[in-house]
Amino acid sequence: MSQCNVCQNELTKPIYSSGMPHSLTSLCDIIPGYTMVYFCTCCGHVQTNQLENTDQFYDTDYKILIDSEDEDQLYAIKDGVKIYRGEHQANTVLSKVDIPRGAKILDYGAAKGHTIRKLLEKRSDLIPHVFDVSDMYKSFWDKFVPSSNQACYETPASWNGRFDLITSFYVAEHVVDLESYFLAITNLLAPGGTLFFTVPNILANVADFLVVDHVNHFTWASLRNLLAGLELENITIDDKSHDSAFVVTARKPQEEFYRLKVFAPENQQNLWTASDEAGNPHLQLKHTIDRMANYWRRAQQEIVNFERSRSKAEPAAVYGSGFYGAYITSCLEQPESVSHYLDANPYRQGKQLFGKQVIAPGMLPDSTRLIYVGLNPRIAKEAMARVPGWEHRSPDFFFLPELTIA
Ligand SMILES: [Zn+2]
Repeated sequence: MSQCNVCQNELTKPIYSSGMPHSLTSLCDIIPGYTMVYFCTCCGHVQTNQLENTDQFYDTDYKILIDSEDEDQLYAIKDGVKIYRGEHQANTVLSKVDIPRGAKILDYGAAKGHTIRKLLEKRSDLIPHVFDVSDMYKSFWDKFVPSSNQACYETPASWNGRFDLITSFYVAEHVVDLESYFLAITNLLAPGGTLFFTVPNILANVADFLVVDHVNHFTWASLRNLLAGLELENITIDDKSHDSAFVVTARKPQEEFYRLKVFAPENQQNLWTASDEAGNPHLQLKHTIDRMANYWRRAQQEIVNFERSRSKAEPAAVYGSGFYGAYITSCLEQPESVSHYLDANPYRQGKQLFGKQVIAPGMLPDSTRLIYVGLNPRIAKEAMARVPGWEHRSPDFFFLPELTIA
């Protein structure tokens, strides 16, 4: 039995348990243990059972994009131009926050500090600081942040009340003790300073449901519940600026805090769900989350059924070396039949996943016809219809089932 990380309500019965005794992390590692997902009827939060040895995981095992300085996740391809996540996040901060000249900024949970680095390219007047619960990113930080502005594991007391802006990209979904996390950030902000953070939106990305190191899967309802309990004002929640994410901005009050919550009008209608208004314990939301749980049970079954319908000797490839590709692999009874992973992101090409090479789609040997498509089902079919260099091919595709969330 565990407690809801947002409202401390007791969570008794999981709505989902993986049928396999292994789980997938956000870095696409397969680790032992069942994934158990709970729904909190009290605040609408979705929560996954905690990994064991969490501190050590983030200190030494959680190596996000650490292979090279420029490596970054592909955010989108627009008109043939690749847009990386750090660049997009920096642009989002600039579009949403009016940052004063010469502002002291801190990236809290910075990893390599990709975003703050991009921000500095556009605003060289800003004074950067970085913090993470690991020391393995220092060599990256040293290139653009003075060492006195870096902190590992703990922030120095001299930083309290210092910052005009604190950013925290994709951190809170990993944090069990949300109260301490937000209290630490609030203490570090100067009065009137702005917090800008992002978390995945589970309602826009069904994959987030299965990520075992995302202990928190925020919904509109649980995020609103969480923010209402913090000593912050001028809160905005935005699910449009970053694909499949919630972007939140909030301000530390200048004066003593009176618990007056000011939500920006443009978000007002989204902050309340129909089920809230009816006084129901998030029944509509629970229905949606139940459908996600059913979706993953069905996806697993379809992968297994498809695999069994094919010859065991037939070579296969998985298109996509990210989460969906790893998920398909984790469900296969004979993962050794996968000869390659295919990925359009040049930073992924040349790497290995589960001991197999990640190659550009155009490099796939002609003899491999069986392709498991490990892409977001929303875009998978369209993407497969226009793979450069595949005009002469006629692959046999396996597609994950589609899910539409009402
Ligand atoms: Zn709750």
